[in-house]
Amino acid sequence: MPPLTLRRKLAILSDAAKYDASCASSGTEKRNSAGKGGIGSTEGSGICHSYAPDGRCISLLKILLTNFCVYDCIYCVNRSSSNVQRARFSVEEVVGLTLDFYKRNYIEGLFLSSGIIRSPDYTMEELVRVARSLREDHQFAGYIHLKVIPNAAPELLAEAGRWADRLSTNIEMPTDIALETLAPEKRPSEIRTAMARVRGKLDEAAPEAKTKTRTAKPKWAPAGQSTQMIIGADGANDGAILNRAAGLYSGYKLRRVYYSAFSPIPDASSRLPLRPPPLMREHRLYQADWLIRFYGFDVPEIVAGGEDGLLDLAIDPKLAWALKHRERFPVDVNRADRDMLLRVPGLGTRSVDRIIATRRHHSLRLDDVARIAGSIDKVRPFIEALDWTPGGLTDHQRLRAKLTPAPEQLALF
Ligand code: SF4
Repeated sequence: MPPLTLRRKLAILSDAAKYDASCASSGTEKRNSAGKGGIGSTEGSGICHSYAPDGRCISLLKILLTNFCVYDCIYCVNRSSSNVQRARFSVEEVVGLTLDFYKRNYIEGLFLSSGIIRSPDYTMEELVRVARSLREDHQFAGYIHLKVIPNAAPELLAEAGRWADRLSTNIEMPTDIALETLAPEKRPSEIRTAMARVRGKLDEAAPEAKTKTRTAKPKWAPAGQSTQMIIGADGANDGAILNRAAGLYSGYKLRRVYYSAFSPIPDASSRLPLRPPPLMREHRLYQADWLIRFYGFDVPEIVAGGEDGLLDLAIDPKLAWALKHRERFPVDVNRADRDMLLRVPGLGTRSVDRIIATRRHHSLRLDDVARIAGSIDKVRPFIEALDWTPGGLTDHQRLRAKLTPAPEQLALF
């Protein structure tokens, strides 16, 4: 068989990387000018979008070094028993592609993961070689996100953080038992050890920053670490998923937990579900995650907004919680503390900060809140303002129906 061209390898290894959500990809419609004329394509080239630590949206070349893998995780299209075409980049090819794409202004960085070839150490060493070469041989100053291979030597991890902006070790499953069942070669304890090592290095690097300006970042993996959890491949409910996420945030100081709805793969094991979970479930988990990190909610509160450990798919988790705790409302926007304002459906962190800043100068009316929040429909039943009290609206029997978005006909084209 003739050797694969670089372009073909890129097609295979960028497609294989799309299942990894630990660097957020932006979804867009599929367009391709090949064979039809026109300019440009939104698929196939392996470019995804992610967010830099300062909030900028950046384009990354998202690829695997190889989709060969000695492991056989049954939820993964790259598992050893999978019947997919295999490819492998050399270190020099990845470096060359990254520099070429960067110089053409297609990307601002690289997201590099890999199947496990030979051993965790060998694979991690290859990933590190790419990053080292980019930084040392080519003075590449763009963003680099490297996947951590659990069980790789601590020295390799230490070096990975010298070159990469972000490191991620995927936890994969919400429970240890699911991981042990679906990924027989992986050990939950080894994944946690890798995360703990990254956290230890980040903590070591942090004091260095304090001696500089307040905004200075540690030099070791300055964008921190993240992880991905696949949802819907096992029977874990949203409570179990969010409990695992909360534990990871507090235990390993993760910047982000990414939730990736399981997508059925070709020739899948009968132990996997035939259908993916609703994408809305993934969306609600992201909203719940946001409530944990920025709104002061704990997991039991969020889960209590739904039923049987599952989030309500019809409404967002904050509204679901508020509807079940109407005794806590209405909240006086002119007096309530920040924590309680953050619990008002329809008020985000920025709106709450603006309310607090504005009320120092004058008492807020409903119109003032509407201007700040952008929309008042969801907020109105849960607040009091200078000229507004919701009366019986807060406890109205049909309030949930009034606030539930009407079903929409999906676009046909
Ligand atoms: S280790 Fe498991 S999840 Fe990772 S590439 Fe190999 S089979 Fe897939």
